[in-house]
Amino acid sequence: MPISEAHPTKDDLESTDRLLQTLKDQGLEIVLGKLDKMVKEFVYRVCLRRNHSESLAREAGGKIFTFGSYRLGVHGSGTDIDTLCVVPRHVEREDFFEDMQDMLRQRPEVTELTAVPDAFTPVIKMNFSDIPIDLTFARLGLSSIPDSLDLADDSLLRNLDDRCIRSVNGSRVTDEILRLVPNIPAFRMALRCVKLWAQRRAIYSNMMGFLGGVAWAMLVARVCQLYPNACAATIISRFFSILHQWPWPQPVLLKPIEEGPLQVRVWNPKLYAADRGHKMPIITPAYPSMCATHNVTDSTKAVMLSEFKEAAELVNRIMVERIPWSALFTKDDFFTRYRHYLQVIASSDTEERHLRWSGLVESRIRHLVTRLERVENLVLAHPYIKGFSKVIKYRTAAEKEDAAHGTVKTPSVDQESPSDSPAETNTMHTSIYYIGLCIPAREAGSTAHRKMDLFRPKEEFMEIVKSWDKYDPQSMGIVVQHIRSSALPAEVLDDADQKKTKRSKSGKKTAVDTTRPPSKKRRGSSSQNGVLPDVVPAASVETPGTPTATASPLPTIDVSATTAPIVPQV
Ligand code: ATP
Ligand code: MG
Repeated sequence: MPISEAHPTKDDLESTDRLLQTLKDQGLEIVLGKLDKMVKEFVYRVCLRRNHSESLAREAGGKIFTFGSYRLGVHGSGTDIDTLCVVPRHVEREDFFEDMQDMLRQRPEVTELTAVPDAFTPVIKMNFSDIPIDLTFARLGLSSIPDSLDLADDSLLRNLDDRCIRSVNGSRVTDEILRLVPNIPAFRMALRCVKLWAQRRAIYSNMMGFLGGVAWAMLVARVCQLYPNACAATIISRFFSILHQWPWPQPVLLKPIEEGPLQVRVWNPKLYAADRGHKMPIITPAYPSMCATHNVTDSTKAVMLSEFKEAAELVNRIMVERIPWSALFTKDDFFTRYRHYLQVIASSDTEERHLRWSGLVESRIRHLVTRLERVENLVLAHPYIKGFSKVIKYRTAAEKEDAAHGTVKTPSVDQESPSDSPAETNTMHTSIYYIGLCIPAREAGSTAHRKMDLFRPKEEFMEIVKSWDKYDPQSMGIVVQHIRSSALPAEVLDDADQKKTKRSKSGKKTAVDTTRPPSKKRRGSSSQNGVLPDVVPAASVETPGTPTATASPLPTIDVSATTAPIVPQV
């Protein structure tokens, strides 16, 4: 007989949630403890190899610091834990990428390890006991790294190379944000909300030209400074109303605690604004300060401003009319918003090669965006924040061509039938990235065809990605092509959580979102800032110089037709 069959109360459920979080945190603490031990062992081994005495090697120490969203106390499940390995002067970066990497590879808990030694901030990425970890590296000019070391002291940066300065900076920035925020619990809750909102609205990605974690954190921190006694809901409401009216490119800076409201301690705001072409400068608070939003373009800025405005209106209704908060977190409508898209398809023959190649292509998408922004008749080139990856099996040259163009008629690997013989099939790894093309509405009564020359942007983008020193045309493919919304693959709509999106009889997708209140500036009118008209004309759009395109009665911007796509020779 059970002692009680009572259902849990709200309090019981809340305690269970806290227990779950604690268990997860404990797992993390154990991993961080193991990593810290490994760093000390790594420093010790390198010191001995360099003929230092046993006692010096022991005393040399070494320490793991955490930073980023984990350190801020706002990381979500599945997001990387940012860690920094700090070593004394006897240990070099090369040692880290050799000895430390080897030690990690030998651990059974470590999977999916990728080392990126040539990155702007060199890093080892891995899963440690299934927890995704980014491990960066900094060598300080000290003979030993005690556990009590604090990275706040500016003098530690003297004589460090740029990569070490950048690595240490990640940790110093996070610590400085926490130091400058007056009310940390309210900051955390507001930041969690803003991060969730930005992810749902598809504007969370430093790489694609939107904002990354640290920029969102600094914006929320600045609003917390302006309302030091406010609770999270008020901060969120002020956040959106301040940001959609912010006089960009005036930079957002965190106010140093010890100074007056408008003074700036170590940086000169002008330095970060228009002079450097930054569209939405948000400046990190730790010396040496830098702009965390270098990648923002005119298009991504326009998209974000429009989202800020819409969110400001929504939060106002949440506060005044008491509509549910969930209205703020509605999924973006990227794949139903435009009538024309560009697909950038990266393909490779092996998983390992594809990881690098697709990463490189992804990191260059914003360069395609800035080039598209110069095209006449294109109001805005809106990149989607992530790509869609697939492993495809093919047998014939035609199937291979289809795979490289994203028009797969062959089953993907996960749908493979048992009768498939591996000997007959080849594998292709593909990742597809999307850019929404916003074209101005045609003037009333006009039937004239408007032309969009996408040839140059495409060519320049191809040149950029192919100039990568590890580019290999034999095993890596790249295709840039136009696609109409009606031809978008089902996976992008499924993924976009647009199960609520159905096709009307006309074949046009109709969003039947019930949570988000209807927005006045969706299809049919232009946004107030005049940059984001959601109306896409029914008119034809043509690429000059493409006989098949001009002859076609259908709207087309088939950039792929202008140059033969490159397909990997696998
Ligand atoms: P997330 O939850 O998305 O991981 P995060 O706050 O951890 O958010 P990351 O993008 O993981 O942010 O970056 C980790 C740290 O690296 C940041 O706290 C910051 O110090 C540094 N960093 C990352 N991107 C930038 C940038 N664009 N400019 C300056 N510093 C950056
Ligand atoms: Mg992070």
